[in-house]
Amino acid sequence: MASELEPEVQGLDRTFLECSAEETAGKWLQATDLTREVYQHLAHYVPRIYCRGPNPFPQKEDMLAQHVLLGPMEWYLCGEDPEFGFPKLEQANKPSHLCGRVFKVGEPTYSCRDCAVDPTCVLCMECFLGSIHRDHRYRMTTSGGGGFCDCGDTEAWKEGPYCQKHELNTSEIEEEEDPLVRLSEDVIARTYNIFAIMFRYAVEILTWEKENELPADLKMVEKSDTYYCMLFNDEVHTYEQVIYTLQKAVNCTQKEAIGFATTVDRDGRRSVRYGDFQYCEQAKSVIVRNTSRQTKPLKVQVMHSSLVAHQNFGLKLLSWLGSIIGYSDGLRRILCQVGLQEGPDGENSSLVDRLMLSDSKLWKGARSVYHQLFMSSLLMDLKYKKLFAVRFAKNYERLQSDYVTDDHDREFSVADLSVQIFTVPSLARMLITEENLMTIIIKTFMDHLRHRDGQGRFQFERYTALQAFKFRRVQSLILDLKYVLISRPAVWSDELRHKFLEGFDAFLELLKCMQGMDPITRQVGQHIEMEPEWEAAFTLQMKLTHIISMVQDWCASDEKVLIEAYKKCLGVLMQCHGGFTDGEQPITLSICGHSVETIRYCVSQEKVSIHLPVSRLLAGLHVLLSRSEVAYKFPELLPLSELSPPMLIEHPLRCLVLCAQVHAGMWRRNGFSLVNQIYYYHNVKCRREMFDKDIMMLQTGVSMMDPNHFLMIMLSRFELYQIFSTPDYGKRFSSEITHKDVIQQNNTLIEEMLYLIIMLVGERFIPGVGQVNATEEIKREIIHQLSIKPMAHSELVKSLPEDENKETGMENVIETVAHFKKPGLTGRGMYELKPECAKEFNLYFYHFSRAEQSKAEEAQRKLRRQNREDTALPPPVLPPFCPLFASLVNILQSDVMLCIMGTILQWAVEHNGYAWSESMLQRVLHLIGMALQEEKQHLENAMEEHVVTFTFTQKISKPGEAPNNSPSILAMLETLQNAPYLEVHKDMIRWILKTFNAIKKIRESSPTSPVAETEGTIMEESSRDKDKAERKRKAEIARLRREKIMAQMSEMQRHFIDENKELFQQTLELDGSSSAVLDSGPVVSGTTFTALGPAQTQVSEHRQFVTCILCQEEQEVKVESKAMVLAAFVQRSTVLSKNRSKFIQDPEKYDPLFMHPDLSCGTHTGSCGHIMHAHCWQRYFDSVQNKEQRRQQRLRLHMSYDVENGEFLCPLCECLSNTVIPLLLPPRNIFSRLNFSDQPNLTQWIRIISQQIKALQSLRKEENASIPASSENSKNMEEVELPQGFRPDFHPQNPYSENIKEMLTTFGTATYKVGLKVHPNEEDPRVPIMCWGSCAYTIQSIERILSDEDKPLFGPLPCRLDDCLRSLTRFAAAHWTVASLLVVQRHFCKLFASLVPNDSHDDVPCILDIDMFHLLVSLVLAFPALQCQDFSGISLGTGDLHIFHLVTMAHIVQILLTSCTEENGMDQENLTGEEELATLTLYKILHQCTGSALKEIPSGWHLWRSVRAGIMPFLKCSALFFHYLNGVPAPSDIQVSGASHFEHLCNYLSLPTNLICLFQENSEIMNSLIESWCRNNEVKQYLEGERDAVSYPRESNKLIDLPEDYSSLINQASNFSCPKSGGDKSRAPTLCLVCGTLLCSQSYCCQTELEGEDVGACTAHTYSCGSGAGIFLRVRECQVLFLAGKTKGCFYSPPYLDDYGETDQGLRRGNPLHLCRDRFKKIQKLWHQHSITEEIGHAQEANQTLVGIDWQHL
Ligand SMILES: [Zn+2]
Ligand SMILES: [Zn+2]
Ligand SMILES: [Zn+2]
Ligand SMILES: [Zn+2]
Ligand SMILES: [Zn+2]
Ligand SMILES: [Zn+2]
Ligand SMILES: [Zn+2]
Repeated sequence: MASELEPEVQGLDRTFLECSAEETAGKWLQATDLTREVYQHLAHYVPRIYCRGPNPFPQKEDMLAQHVLLGPMEWYLCGEDPEFGFPKLEQANKPSHLCGRVFKVGEPTYSCRDCAVDPTCVLCMECFLGSIHRDHRYRMTTSGGGGFCDCGDTEAWKEGPYCQKHELNTSEIEEEEDPLVRLSEDVIARTYNIFAIMFRYAVEILTWEKENELPADLKMVEKSDTYYCMLFNDEVHTYEQVIYTLQKAVNCTQKEAIGFATTVDRDGRRSVRYGDFQYCEQAKSVIVRNTSRQTKPLKVQVMHSSLVAHQNFGLKLLSWLGSIIGYSDGLRRILCQVGLQEGPDGENSSLVDRLMLSDSKLWKGARSVYHQLFMSSLLMDLKYKKLFAVRFAKNYERLQSDYVTDDHDREFSVADLSVQIFTVPSLARMLITEENLMTIIIKTFMDHLRHRDGQGRFQFERYTALQAFKFRRVQSLILDLKYVLISRPAVWSDELRHKFLEGFDAFLELLKCMQGMDPITRQVGQHIEMEPEWEAAFTLQMKLTHIISMVQDWCASDEKVLIEAYKKCLGVLMQCHGGFTDGEQPITLSICGHSVETIRYCVSQEKVSIHLPVSRLLAGLHVLLSRSEVAYKFPELLPLSELSPPMLIEHPLRCLVLCAQVHAGMWRRNGFSLVNQIYYYHNVKCRREMFDKDIMMLQTGVSMMDPNHFLMIMLSRFELYQIFSTPDYGKRFSSEITHKDVIQQNNTLIEEMLYLIIMLVGERFIPGVGQVNATEEIKREIIHQLSIKPMAHSELVKSLPEDENKETGMENVIETVAHFKKPGLTGRGMYELKPECAKEFNLYFYHFSRAEQSKAEEAQRKLRRQNREDTALPPPVLPPFCPLFASLVNILQSDVMLCIMGTILQWAVEHNGYAWSESMLQRVLHLIGMALQEEKQHLENAMEEHVVTFTFTQKISKPGEAPNNSPSILAMLETLQNAPYLEVHKDMIRWILKTFNAIKKIRESSPTSPVAETEGTIMEESSRDKDKAERKRKAEIARLRREKIMAQMSEMQRHFIDENKELFQQTLELDGSSSAVLDSGPVVSGTTFTALGPAQTQVSEHRQFVTCILCQEEQEVKVESKAMVLAAFVQRSTVLSKNRSKFIQDPEKYDPLFMHPDLSCGTHTGSCGHIMHAHCWQRYFDSVQNKEQRRQQRLRLHMSYDVENGEFLCPLCECLSNTVIPLLLPPRNIFSRLNFSDQPNLTQWIRIISQQIKALQSLRKEENASIPASSENSKNMEEVELPQGFRPDFHPQNPYSENIKEMLTTFGTATYKVGLKVHPNEEDPRVPIMCWGSCAYTIQSIERILSDEDKPLFGPLPCRLDDCLRSLTRFAAAHWTVASLLVVQRHFCKLFASLVPNDSHDDVPCILDIDMFHLLVSLVLAFPALQCQDFSGISLGTGDLHIFHLVTMAHIVQILLTSCTEENGMDQENLTGEEELATLTLYKILHQCTGSALKEIPSGWHLWRSVRAGIMPFLKCSALFFHYLNGVPAPSDIQVSGASHFEHLCNYLSLPTNLICLFQENSEIMNSLIESWCRNNEVKQYLEGERDAVSYPRESNKLIDLPEDYSSLINQASNFSCPKSGGDKSRAPTLCLVCGTLLCSQSYCCQTELEGEDVGACTAHTYSCGSGAGIFLRVRECQVLFLAGKTKGCFYSPPYLDDYGETDQGLRRGNPLHLCRDRFKKIQKLWHQHSITEEIGHAQEANQTLVGIDWQHL
């Protein structure tokens, strides 16, 4: 279809070109009716440019539009060529000082915690870096898109509002100049004209609602009849649903459907069909039918193509306007003026109003275009920002209602602009006073929450999903309210007072609807049937928490407002609970001669609610009265006399009693919803405006009433009145056999009540309650948190309440109370409490949860014991109350209190076990302690002559009166001091008695009494005794714990044994894992060892005994015995790769015989080193497999390893494994024959081997020729001339036991299968190659690790590595015995041919393209297959040596050919060294052989140096290889790190230290070989610069460099767009740490097909970059991602830390993050060690949820 259109478009182009912008503009300048003229122009051209086919051609459209449509406008506006006009305007412009950069999704934004007025004030990265805030405490986040940089906005910053770039010149301190003065009259007039027409056109066409018709003035004469079937976005249907429906409806492929869906999701609409009306209508009906089943259908419209064309141009026009006004602030102002000008229809008829009001009807794309325009125009112009704010406020209700019913996310709604307006303090203040904004917001909010119960309270019961959805949207209004209130006014006008109080009234109305909502009744008998809905109410409470606090802040800033607010709040509270009208009956309570009237009300029987916001607000205001001293200054203005303390305390008290009863287990049948509510009531997110305020309200109440009365009411509400008002009630318990449950309940209730009293007296750290400031409050919180345990910064932050600016105020005080301990390689930085702060610890701190309290108690007692102190935790000394609360302390010495204390002590003395608990006593002791501290304080602070009325000590010394005649409290304490059952509390009782004496002393002012002193010594002694006892007790506990753990362990073992019954005859001991001969024996220093060749040092291997970890049997490793195996993991690897673009394309055809020097596809073998019998392992593996098959259906996915792929976990260490390596003796010894003749030299040897090879080849050729006549083989053989002693018909016996042979095959096949990713086939000729390759590659990778870490080659290797290398090498050397001899011989021949040319092998690579170490290993390990048929007396060792020398020489040639000798002219030609001269000679030969293509001859010194450096890795690898192959111990010199080991290595490897000697000794053959190597065409090409080659030494691969500052990564990622969906921002940009590629992870757009499955970008990338394993950084989450294969993955902690030594996964806290190099190195090390997969395995074993993640979609 597109091709059909082409000629038409071509034709059009010509007519367009004729249309000149200048002429058109000229015509317009003359026009009398400009509007008509322009509209005609648009009506003619727009449909001819836009929407010419099914798919848009944006580039072409834009180009034409610029030429034909926008060009004339620009000409018109400028009055000349815009190319000159606009720059002129720009020059004349005086730019505003606002940055106003609009944020892209994912762009980093910065806020200053010190200077930002509120957290919504942010800077772009550029401004931030140029601002003073970069040295402040800043916070970094990523933008969700929308919003702009506040740089230059003086209202947004307390300090430093400008960055360097936007800095004001001090000379031009602005007095708002009108930007229009900088424009000429003409330009103003023309701009005004054209803006007015174009803006109106855009608004009209975008808000046009008819689908098939155009506005009258745009109608065309000839109307083509094409339509679009337009699909719109909604947030209801999923991606999958839309894709599926589209495939059905418009017959497209899945890929096209994904394309449509992606565009719909991004732009909000997309045409899915183009054609005549019928055709489109048909698609529409299918889509609607298919999507209407469960939800409302997808929105589809059939629209006329010219309408769509105009709309597209309308959008283009808006963006054009946005860019034009960028030239000049004057143009911007004109646009603002045009936009806000009221139209002919009066109110709401301005263009801006019209757009806003149709916001919810527009599609996403259109919305964001005009929002952007608003932001760059109205919000950037200070004058019009204000006018716009007013329009916005006037339409507020409408806009919000539209938003609530609309289903798009908030960021796509114009309502979201509120944050830009309301957070400007001056605008917010103006809108409150002039538009009554506060009231409007609250009323709008209330309007949307219509569900009320009979009393008019909110009701969330039975509310539907739709309502829940709506409720979520309505919550954004609370956010608006928060913005409006966020900055408190410093100065109040009367108007502001008035409007604020009006808003306050509305707010009280809102709270009134919450007071008492969601009431609950205790469930008795049956458990509740359905958990009631509770979350909605709490959500509301939580969202309002900050608002309530802010409202209080506002009140506190003005006394008049505070007084009025207090009165209003009290009034509303009285309306809610005036005069106990709930129908409760009055009753009278009396104890100790006091009596009080109250009502009969039982929390356990009647309705009770946790929501009391009105009471709590009043409590808050009351404390403010106290704090600001308004209460003393203007008592006459306050309605204090109207306060009825019993009424104030009633509901908060009920709520606290409810909590107590829940703890006592009385509400168990009410289910979890109640438990949750109680939890949140105390939680740090809510407690500030819930629990804390209830405590304050009770404090307020007690301070205003007789404490005896209060206590009686409290007893009654706790339903404990009976117990304490009836003498001897406690005794009755023991005699009557009451329900144990009831007693237990009552005990808990008494404990809770005492705790409450402790809190009422002790919680004085709120400014206004006690004489403290905010700093002391926060200090106390931190001290108590750190009393539990040392904490990380983020943990502390989480436990402290945040204010509306997300600040806890912690940084200001933390240094004074805690020490910081830096983190190590893992873990986090920690704060530890300073010891001197311990004395401020209060065991009954009210924000402790139960668990925290007991942990803190334990920790503090332990601390005291460590300091050799007694373990009493007495109450701390408290600050005094504020005067308004001062009388509260009297509760401690009130009669009822003393009665309660006395009664409980009495129970403790009588100690009848039942109606009594230790914690009850502990609390009473604490209360007594508090009273004593109080009295002491009073005495110490009392002025002379002043009578201290707090006389607790006197009161507790008095015995009870008749008739009880109970002993005094003091006397009882003295009795209890020696009670054996109160051991734990002894120290506390002693402390009380001591303090009592001290007070007595102060009172009597008498000298120390001798009694006290003796008591002191007794105390010390007994505390020593106690220490001993304590230690004994601890030891006992430790013993018990150990026993318990042992019992558990043996239980677990039994379980394991049960599961693997057949494997266990004996008990499993956990230590028998080591092989008996790990160390290769003590090294005799001074001896020189030779690792290979005829002169090899002969070592007799010790007999090696190993223990099977499964059956625990010990066994000797022998050739003919049962096989012992090591668990091993084989994986493909690109860790050493120098060419990541290369990977195995077609594994079936891939030939691995020669490894390329770029090492691009290696196979690595690792092992945990744990040894098993082969048969034990086999049985273990079978049982794992069976178990898996049994649970296949249900749980198969939940495994960290893939059984079907042969994976299992090492039974001992749970290390991921996929095969086993057999344990072998040095295999060469088995085949050693006597050396009965002189050994040939290199030249001779090469000749002999060449002859043997030739013989083999001709034999093979004949065999192939005469396959049918196989019986004649022997005859044929005779015809070939055989070298002396060569017997090709000889087939050696395999010396290994069947079992070992089997294991050789098993491991060989596994290496082949994993390394090539093919199906296992033990017959495949590539199996032996893969085994040799894995051996070579693994040795190379270990050599790299050792070099990188500067470790010695033969230093102490971790024994698992040592075991692994030894087994792997010996295995690889033995494998040929189970392979076909012919195959191995053929491999050898071909390998050999790469160095010694052979006619029948012309397909070998040139020496530049061979990794010499791989070649060496393969040649050496394949050689026995040839040698075993050679009976001429040439030993294996001789062959090894010659092979080694030959390969070494080839490598030297390779190095010289590729050494990039940047000649250093400064080098002195100092040709003294023998090596240097020799190297130079060799180089000259090379120069000749290459036909002088090799570069000019550099210095010999230089050459020799590069040979030495280049060959080192090869020599080291070879040393490791021969060491493990032949078992010759390493010379001691190579075992330590330090100086160069070149000489030692050469000796060990039987090489001359002057390596060039090798050439000289064998010059006869070498010269011809060198010539053959250099003659190669590839070499020539390389030397002529036509191709690349690897040079030596190869550098180690590193992970990419990461920036120091994390935000530059975020910035980098925010500029990254999805490579597949045309410039779209990627949602989860992810950085490959191996190669640095940025990927668009976790999204549909970048999924690709891999082996028939859809996988995400990361998984796809791992296949090419990491052979299946990958290391990524998820930039937006700040999280490291490890991936392996398609199913495995885990997250790993990122190498970025904040200043507190913590990572920030998910970037939730936003503290600045900096690179931690050590942690990054650790990740790199994991990579180098090939431990990524293992790490994933461990992570998945530890955290099962990781197994469930669809890693392949990342
Ligand atoms: Zn900026
Ligand atoms: Zn700036
Ligand atoms: Zn700052
Ligand atoms: Zn065993
Ligand atoms: Zn293991
Ligand atoms: Zn990569
Ligand atoms: Zn993408």
